[in-house]
Parts: sequence; structure tokens; C-alpha cells
Amino acid sequence: MKEQCLEIVRQKCNGCKGCALANTRKNIVFGDGNADKAKIVFIGEAPGEMEDESGRPFSGRAGQLLDEFLAAAGISREEDLYITNTVKCRPPENRVPTDEEKEACRKFLNAQIDFIKPRAIILCGATALKSFVELDKKTTISKIRGQWMTITVDGVEYPAMTIFHPSYLLRNHSLAENAPRTLMAKDLREIKNTYLNDVQRFNDVVTGNADNKEFACV
Ligand code: SF4
Repeated sequence: MKEQCLEIVRQKCNGCKGCALANTRKNIVFGDGNADKAKIVFIGEAPGEMEDESGRPFSGRAGQLLDEFLAAAGISREEDLYITNTVKCRPPENRVPTDEEKEACRKFLNAQIDFIKPRAIILCGATALKSFVELDKKTTISKIRGQWMTITVDGVEYPAMTIFHPSYLLRNHSLAENAPRTLMAKDLREIKNTYLNDVQRFNDVVTGNADNKEFACV
């Protein structure tokens, strides 16, 4: 049923000209995963070159590294996650999407979350985090990563954690105790232990109807 609802949203997204990114994209990169099975929605920044070509999020080098970290933590990309981005079209030269672009695309992201109703949301990198939380200038990803917080999407509260973006890890190879790769592995284990292993806890987390104000699904 969730898959069917998301297919309706995907069809609306295909051909979207809601912002200027429509002029330069090759493909819409809507989302990846089994919406009926996914327990966690994973939100990255924006499609890159490989994703623009393939139409699949996190399919480039950063995505391959993410797959390795997920596998090491015992998280199944296919079974546990639904992966998407703050915007569904590639920004030219892989620049950060603007606030206007994120706002124009927000209805698709909200609909994905509304229909999946995940047990938790992972915010991958600063752009995803800032789409949900106002940050003061002193707060960095390094300070806030690994902490559970509550975010609200269309009136429903979700547990959420920010983690490093895997493209940052491509530039940081150290495996020292507090190095980004080590902390990424730690955060993914925490997510696995809290919302994939602890059945009682994650069953209690999210309540409410899987409705979305923008897209009807009956
Ligand atoms: S980024 Fe989102 S709003 Fe902009 S054209 Fe693509 S699908 Fe539409």
C-alpha cells in the first residue's frame, strides 16, 4: 500500500518543473527502497552526477562507501531503509541546493515521509539537517551528529539522528578513535540497536495516519 502511494507521488514528480533544477537534470532521482518494508527514511543532500545518470540515489562513490558502512553495521539498504534527498534533481556542478529549491521540492519529501511513516529518520549531512532544524552558527555537524532529536513533519513527530555525509568520509580516511569514519560506524550501530533491534521501542515511536495533504492516496 505504501509503495502504491509513493508511486502516485513519483508519477507527479516525474516531469516536475517546480524549480530551475528541472532545466539541467537528466533524470529525476525520486527515492530508493521498499516503502512497505522500510523502517527508516534516510535523507541525503541532492543527486550527484552518477545519480542524475542512473536515477538512483547514492549510486556513486559516496553511495558505495555508504553501502559498506551500512553492511558493517548490519543495516540492509534494501530491507531497512528508504533513501532519498532533499531535492530530487541534480544541482549543476553538484552545488548545494538553495533554500528556494528545497522549499519547492519539500512536498515530495514530506509525502515520502508521510506515507512511509518511518520509525526514525536519518539526516545525512548538513543540508538534510538544515531542512528540518534551524542551526545557530556555532553548531556544526561534528557537534550534533550521533544525537537523537525529535523532528516534526506534517504534525507528526519522528526520532531523528544526523550523521556525516559519506562524501565527507571519502576525504577522511583515518580510523582513529574519534575520526569521522569511526564515529559514522558508531552512529549506524546506535541506529541499528535502537530502531532496528529494539522492537518494543520502535513500535511505540510513531503514531498517526499515513495521510499527506498534497497527494491523495486511497
Ligand atoms: S528539484 Fe524538486 S521541485 Fe525542483 S524540478 Fe526537481 S522535482 Fe521539481
